[in-house]
Amino acid sequence: MRVAILGAGIAGLSVAHFVRREAARRTLPLDLTVYEAGPRAGGRIRTQEDAGYRVEWAANGIQGLDGAASKLADELGLASEKVVARPEAARRYILKGGRLHLLPLSPPALIGFGALSARGKLRLVAEPFFARRSPADETVHDFAARHMGEEAASTLIGTVVRGVFAGDARRLSLDASFPIMRDMERKHRSLVVAMIRGKRSPGGRTLWRLRGGIESLVRALAAEVPVAIASGALREEIEAILSAGGLREPFHAIVGARDVRQGKPHPEPYLTAARRLAERAPGLRPEDCVVFEDSMPGIAAARAAGMKVVAVTNSYPAAKLGAAHRVVDTLAGLDATSLRALFAA
Ligand SMILES: Cc1cc2nc3c(=O)[nH]c(=O)nc-3n(C[C@H](O)[C@H](O)[C@H](O)COP(=O)(O)OP(=O)(O)OC[C@H]3O[C@@H](n4cnc5c(N)ncnc54)[C@H](O)[C@@H]3O)c2cc1C
Repeated sequence: MRVAILGAGIAGLSVAHFVRREAARRTLPLDLTVYEAGPRAGGRIRTQEDAGYRVEWAANGIQGLDGAASKLADELGLASEKVVARPEAARRYILKGGRLHLLPLSPPALIGFGALSARGKLRLVAEPFFARRSPADETVHDFAARHMGEEAASTLIGTVVRGVFAGDARRLSLDASFPIMRDMERKHRSLVVAMIRGKRSPGGRTLWRLRGGIESLVRALAAEVPVAIASGALREEIEAILSAGGLREPFHAIVGARDVRQGKPHPEPYLTAARRLAERAPGLRPEDCVVFEDSMPGIAAARAAGMKVVAVTNSYPAAKLGAAHRVVDTLAGLDATSLRALFAA
């Protein structure tokens, strides 16, 4: 099965994850490529450390401990990294007319809510009388105005949309950004009725984040191409060096000198690495792997294991590394397309 996904934002990477999982479950051979126009994976989502502060460029919290994103985080081994927001974080304020107004957390609190006029509040509570179903997609603002009136749509929903998407409710599609609202309308016609009838689980409204920032989710998804080190050095030494450089995370298996009976140029180190990676990527075969090498015994070992080899001229000149499938002076510039070409050759 050949699959191409456009965009390595959280949406594209999640789709890639589920396609891979499903193909593995059905033991289908999979040729999957995620194309990304930008220089990094993650799209909008980015976590930056700045002068001791953690800055989120986009999502900083995700709603619902029993939602799809939460389950995905669990699947990626990030369950213990989740941090649940404190109850006080449920308080949100709207700045209007130079004053902060606490968003009403219950229907009675609406009475004292100063950011809406009396007329606007009346129109809002009359929502069940005005609500109609509409099957066509529309902007978030148009949807909200139909249900709760122009004033509440601008003041409340416009603000929520700016807070969540840093976007404009008059331009964002409702179906793309709040499909849950369309669902509420389809099932109950009125949003107020939907909220009264809806029995949401306690986890459904819980806001959570990840200790290392939301980008950890993206990094865990992007690191799903299984990567191993097979080396003649001791595993403990390799681990120590990687950890010191903050580079341990991307490697899924490390095969050191004492993990095999025969070292390179024997294929055992590479075959052992491939076997370990197959525990993570079921169906992975040695002939699906690309090896990066800089020595002649290493190239011989990889070829004997049936793998493709890219040799780098770190230690030897290109003339000595000719047994590799490709010889490069630097890994910079190698991308998925050039690696794929190795298999076509
Ligand atoms: C300021 C801000 C705050 C937010 N806060 C929250 C929050 O607290 N909670 C929450 O749940 N959500 C929040 N969001 C929303 C959430 O971050 C986004 O909905 C989500 O990141 C979008 O992911 P995506 O994969 O759909 O799109 P994107 O992140 O936009 O990714 C799309 C990717 O596709 C690539 N691409 C586009 N076209 C092509 C092409 N033709 N070929 C190849 N690649 C292409 C782009 O370069 C990009 O990397 C916030 C957003 C912003 C901006």
